[in-house]
Parts: sequence; C-alpha cells; structure tokens
Amino acid sequence: MPVVPITNLQFKDKKVLVRCDFNVPIAEGKIQDPARIDASLDTIRYILEHGGVAVLCSHLGRPKERSAEFSLKPVAEYLTNVLGQKVKLAPDCVGDHTGKMIEALKPGEAILLENLRFHKEEEANDRDFSHELARYKQVYVNDGFGTAHRAHASTVGVTRFLSERAAGFLMMRELDALRKVTENPQRPSVAIMGGAKVSDKIGLIKNLLNKVDSILIGGAMAYTFLKAQGIAVGRSRVEDDKIELAKELLADAGRKGVKIILPSDHIVAGAPEAAATPHTVTEIPSEMMGLDIGPQTVDTFIAEIARAKTVIWNGPLGFFEVPAFATGTMRVGEALANQAGVISIIGGGDTAAAIAHAPWANKFTHISTGGGATLEFLEGRELPGVKALEV
Ligand code: AMP
Repeated sequence: MPVVPITNLQFKDKKVLVRCDFNVPIAEGKIQDPARIDASLDTIRYILEHGGVAVLCSHLGRPKERSAEFSLKPVAEYLTNVLGQKVKLAPDCVGDHTGKMIEALKPGEAILLENLRFHKEEEANDRDFSHELARYKQVYVNDGFGTAHRAHASTVGVTRFLSERAAGFLMMRELDALRKVTENPQRPSVAIMGGAKVSDKIGLIKNLLNKVDSILIGGAMAYTFLKAQGIAVGRSRVEDDKIELAKELLADAGRKGVKIILPSDHIVAGAPEAAATPHTVTEIPSEMMGLDIGPQTVDTFIAEIARAKTVIWNGPLGFFEVPAFATGTMRVGEALANQAGVISIIGGGDTAAAIAHAPWANKFTHISTGGGATLEFLEGRELPGVKALEV
C-alpha cells in the first residue's frame, strides 16, 4: 500500500507533529555533522510555508535518564540559524508547559521538543505517552527514515491519535530510492557488500540474491567467504561459525545464477594500524591480515559496475578508518560516483561515513540516511514507521 506524501495534506493553521531524525553526532555541545538535520529542511520549510506550525521532535542517542549531554539544544540553535527564524526548544516533549508553548505559536513558526528518549515510554510505544505526544497537534508527518524500523510512540503510537498523516520529503526520497533496488531494478543490477561481519548481513545477502545479477564482496566479510572456498586468509577477520552459511550462500547464488565476485588480491598488514606497513598480495601470508581489497580486485569491481544500470552499496571494502586501507573503498566509490546513467544507492551508516567527505560524494543518486532502517528495508522487511503512514 502506498504511503501518503506530504504534498497531499493541508497545513494551513494546523499544528503539525514532525518526527525527524536529528540523532546527529555532538561533541562538547557542537554538532559534528548536520547532514541528518539538513536532509529534513525541505520538509520543515514546506510545512512553514504552507501556514502550519511545525512541532519538531526527535530522539538523540541512548540516554538512560534526562541529562544535558543528550539535550537537543544544539539542534534548536542550528535550526534557528539555517531557517533564519527562532526555533525554541521546549523543555520536555510532553506536558502542559510544552502544550502552552505550542499553543502560543503562530502559523509559519516552529518549535523543537526536547529528546523523546528522556521518557522510557517512547521506546515502549506506550499508549498514554503516544496520546500525550499527539495532544495539541492535528497532523502528523514522519520524516525520520532512520528510525522507521522501530515501533516507538513517535513513529507508530501517535498515528492512533493523529489520523491525518503523511511521509515527509526525506522519507519519500529514501523509499523511492530503495525501491529502485528492490522492485524491478534496472538491470544488470549489482550489489557491493562490505563491512565487518557476514552475520550482520545474512538477511541482506539472502534477499539480494533474489534481486541482483551480481554481488561484489569486500571488507572483512570477504574472508569468511574465501575461507569457505578453502583459500588461506592468514590472520584476517573470519567468522568461523559462519563458514557453513557462507558455503550455502555461495551454492544458493550458483543455483539462482547470481555471480558472486570475491577479492583476488589484498592489501595486508600485521595489524589494522596506521603504523603498519601495507603489502599487496594475491596469497595472504599466515602472519598477515587482509585489510583492503587489492588493485586487481578494484579493477574487477569497477569493470562489473561499469556494465550495471543499478548499484546498491552496503559496507566499506576495507578498514577505511586507517587511510592506508581506504583505497579500495575510495577508488570503487569514485568510479561509481562518476559513472553516467547508473542508479547508485549508498545504504548503511558506515558506507556513508566512509565516503561522505569525498569531493564526488554528491554525485551518487542517493545516500541513505538510515543505518538499521536501510538494512531492514533491503532485507525485505516491513518498516513499522512506514506501515503506519500507509492508507
Ligand atoms: P559494518 O558496520 O558491518 O558496515 O562494518 C564496518 C567496519 O568494518 C568498519 O569499521 C571497517 O573498519 C571494518 N572492516 C572493513 N574491512 C575490514 C577488514 N578487512 N578487516 C577488519 N575490519 C574491516
């Protein structure tokens, strides 16, 4: 069933509860990367320009109790700056005092509610708390794609009480982009998979085996697959208890006619440290660990991508935090970003982090703002926060 887009609703003179994902990194009161806030600005501006009052809400981190460290104050200040109008921070997300502050606002004004997770009822999807959160508002817009995989009060519970509801522009962009991969993708379609563990990506690989023509595997997870094929991997990070599963996935790919390409050469070192001396090898020495895909593998991956019409990428191809082992991720990323006519979707928090600051990062079709939500969507699972917006 389709979700209702924000453009279908009337906002004039209405108080709109807007669930955003303002869960940004903050250090010493300073926002380190405002990308998630920026991604929802068009939704906020749309509501304000159409005469609504935007009552913004979000979680921040995982607070055990109310504390200044987890306050959304820096986000309210950031919003005040970028929107060019005062965005007050309500001291709590619910309660009479906050209600009065909301009531006092005029069309075109915005307020930010304090961290939803200062109340444990938020994550418990508590009915009374959801009711409180919905009070003083007439419309609900969910733009927080990053939390759409959680059935919390602010993502699901409030929709019991606010029947007029819609997905914001970011939510729509995310769903449109990810559906380009999972629903009749333009072919050939290729998945690039990396990251630390096979165990985190089992559901993803299983689902993508039914969707894509080939899967390119790098990162630490490649070594579990290589070991499953009897190839020596030295001291590389391997999940020994997932070797049988890796064999099954490889066999399943064979049956389905999906090509799986594993690294044929590697950047190895004694440890994943900046001080380590990297070597390029085709056979991993017993005392070394594979920390990045080698240049030959980079070329193979780029050649495979060059034939693709759709590419989904989840997980870095090496230990990218150390620059000496980031080359594979960066070279493949740059080639994909510069490839004309391809739909390129970057999904998963760590992949985005790995390439976010590269000069070509803005050339991808879409960089997903979700971590867990993106993964669950690509695994073929229904996201409760999206389901709650369907009509
Ligand atoms: P994930 O969260 O599953 O996407 O994993 C990301 C993490 O995998 C990053 O912190 C990378 O440093 C790590 N990683 C990628 N390749 C390797 C590798 N060859 N050896 C060890 N860790 C790796």
